[in-house]
Amino acid sequence: MKTKPGQDISYRDRLTTVSDEGKRVWVYAKKPKGTYYNYRKILAFFLLAFFFIAPFIKVHGEQLLLFNIIERKFVIFGVVFWPQDFHLFVLAMITLIVFIVLFTVIYGRLFCGWLCPQTIFMEFIYRQVEWLIDGNPQAQRRLKNQAWNAEKIFKRVLKHGIYYLIALVVAHTFLSYIIGLDKVKEFVKAGPSEYLGGYIGIFVFSFIFYFIFAWFREQVCTIACPYGRLQGVMLDNNSMVVAYDYVRGEPRGPLNKKEENQGDCIACNACVAVCPTGIDIRNGTQLECINCTACIDACDAVMTRVKKPKGLIRFASETSIKEGKKHRLNARAIAYSVVLAVLISVVAFLFSVRTDIETTILRAPGTLYQESGDSYSNLYNIEVVNKSRDEIPVSIKLIEGNGSIKMIGGDIVAKKGELTKSMFLILIKKKNLHSSKNKIEIGVYDGDRLIETIPSTFVGPNALDVK
Ligand code: SF4
Ligand code: SF4
Repeated sequence: MKTKPGQDISYRDRLTTVSDEGKRVWVYAKKPKGTYYNYRKILAFFLLAFFFIAPFIKVHGEQLLLFNIIERKFVIFGVVFWPQDFHLFVLAMITLIVFIVLFTVIYGRLFCGWLCPQTIFMEFIYRQVEWLIDGNPQAQRRLKNQAWNAEKIFKRVLKHGIYYLIALVVAHTFLSYIIGLDKVKEFVKAGPSEYLGGYIGIFVFSFIFYFIFAWFREQVCTIACPYGRLQGVMLDNNSMVVAYDYVRGEPRGPLNKKEENQGDCIACNACVAVCPTGIDIRNGTQLECINCTACIDACDAVMTRVKKPKGLIRFASETSIKEGKKHRLNARAIAYSVVLAVLISVVAFLFSVRTDIETTILRAPGTLYQESGDSYSNLYNIEVVNKSRDEIPVSIKLIEGNGSIKMIGGDIVAKKGELTKSMFLILIKKKNLHSSKNKIEIGVYDGDRLIETIPSTFVGPNALDVK
């Protein structure tokens, strides 16, 4: 179905990577060249370097990043987070989600093309290996269709061997973010007889990784990725996307058959040839577009050759192309920005007031007061969470309230990363007590250093109130 010369909207009814018979259409993408691709290469280099090097970096004896779900220990830039910090983690995650939504509303799917690990590994590792061994898309097609001769067997074994080796390295690196590099080294040295489970895990993960990049490929973005599926609700006509300027480009036509009123698009298909998801951006914004900008580079090169201004495909919003207006923030983006600013402030504040020791003191449930000689006593439970890397001897003193403290079971030594429980009595002389409910304040100390002050109550007999 055609709406105007050159615009075919049948793409809305089907995936370009699925044939009419329902079979997969393999994408043979051409290697992009151009300014945006150069920036992406630099960014990918730094991201990949960080991914592979970070497990080797230690801060205060802790790995730079660790997400040990099994031991429920998380290290972010050397700062250890325990399950007690879960509220911070949840808030940080909510902030991240709001950030992603806001970013998408304004800048479209830029994350997918420039930062997503799937794209980085696919375009800057796996496809590079493929271009190196199999050659350009024409050579790749030829190789696929040719008989299984020595050349094909050699190239296939070499390519898939390298693919799997990369997957193995990634699996080990990934595991070192989960259980720590030291443990990974330990089990690599020990061999499968001692750590069979670990070896099976590595094999399964590396195989999944190999399968995704050797076969599943762009289908992760076009079929599986939930973020991709949400684009329809996050993008609007004011979102910046990689867009074809149909006002300037249409009606398209070959350069050598120049017709009256012909647009700037010379129908060379260079933009389609480089697309890693196999789409034609001239059909409009599509869910399959990961905003990788390869088509911008390809079209800019064509426009330079035919001596026309660059930017026939560019970052722009649908509105700005249609109306020739400049891109403006819409009300939704402003509202998201406010929410994001509030959330970031709350998270930053909570992180800044986070202490190594967190103490909870409550009067023992079901108890009132006991009389012992010339004093009354109350029983209290104390729980100390130590989020630091060292054992901390903790002492408590009465800051407000004229009495003394008697520990039950000796002094508290808060073990690192653990919750330590204990009990104590507060004794107040009868002559110093003038009410049945008395405000007290308990100080928690690490040596002479006051770490926390905790308000509580001390109860005495009701008779004190009627005196
Ligand atoms: S249409 Fe352009 S930006 Fe979108 S995925 Fe294809 S090449 Fe990348
Ligand atoms: S690369 Fe540019 S000129 Fe060539 S088909 Fe695509 S949009 Fe048209």
